[in-house]
Amino acid sequence: MEFKSYWHATAPRFSGAAEGAVEGEFDVAVVGGGFTGLSAARTLAKEGARVALLEARHVGYGASGRNGGHLNSGLAHGYLEAKQHLGEERAKALYHALDDSVDTIEQIVAEEGIACDFRRSGKLKLASKPKHFDAIARNFEVVNREVDPDTALLTAEELAPEIGSDAFHGAMLSKKSGMMHMGRFVVGMAEAATRHGATIFEDAPVVARTKSGGRWRLETPRGHLSARNVFVATDAYTEGPFEHFRRRIIPVGS
Ligand SMILES: Cc1cc2nc3c(=O)[nH]c(=O)nc-3n(C[C@H](O)[C@H](O)[C@H](O)COP(=O)(O)OP(=O)(O)OC[C@H]3O[C@@H](n4cnc5c(N)ncnc54)[C@H](O)[C@@H]3O)c2cc1C
Repeated sequence: MEFKSYWHATAPRFSGAAEGAVEGEFDVAVVGGGFTGLSAARTLAKEGARVALLEARHVGYGASGRNGGHLNSGLAHGYLEAKQHLGEERAKALYHALDDSVDTIEQIVAEEGIACDFRRSGKLKLASKPKHFDAIARNFEVVNREVDPDTALLTAEELAPEIGSDAFHGAMLSKKSGMMHMGRFVVGMAEAATRHGATIFEDAPVVARTKSGGRWRLETPRGHLSARNVFVATDAYTEGPFEHFRRRIIPVGS
């Protein structure tokens, strides 16, 4: 039985995929229909490029349809560690890049009218042991002063009513973080990309690619198309003729 995520099970299926044979000549062929591919297809189509997106199964099939639903600001390993390793300027830039990414999603959701329950829910980093709280408090003190005033340190007493549990020893709250329904976001992005003129083929795994005369020919079991540029957005799900990328994918804790 195929594993279905909550996002897959509770989102409508995208209904705008192209039917019939995979064919045509395009400026860009995007391979992979997750956040990366859909965002690229939408942006390129908005800029006036002729874009086709080829997805092996259905949009959001990969990690984009199987994640936690969090739009996190802040750094998973802590701003203090980032500062030690990267220096203050780069650590700040990295921190703000994450803030910017959440702002970008919020802007796209509004611009395209995507009904995905985007909300600035905030994020809690919980202390499950007293010594965790000491580390969280040290990190908070610097984050709040140097890079993100939209944070707060919560004691165990302040935290308990928020999460309905007194099992934790306090937390840091990042107010700018959000959550949304990733399945509906993916479908909304696919609809937006097609609205801007991109052609999306589902059930169209790229199984071979060749280049001649400055153009790529991408083969699928449903036919082939040609494109001047190929944008590979296949992530950890990379399969087919993209060994170059497949070999370079390694798991990294983040
Ligand atoms: C368990 C888990 C939890 C996560 N939680 C969060 C979170 O809470 N917040 C957050 O921001 N991020 C989270 N992430 C990370 C986030 O989901 C991914 O970084 C993001 O979805 C990657 O998107 P993508 O478009 O690059 O790749 P994917 O969504 O993986 O899309 C790749 C697509 O390429 C297709 N494909 C592969 N090969 C071919 C081929 N040959 N031809 C055609 N199509 C092909 C696949 O079918 C797939 O649909 C989580 C990830 C996981 C796994």
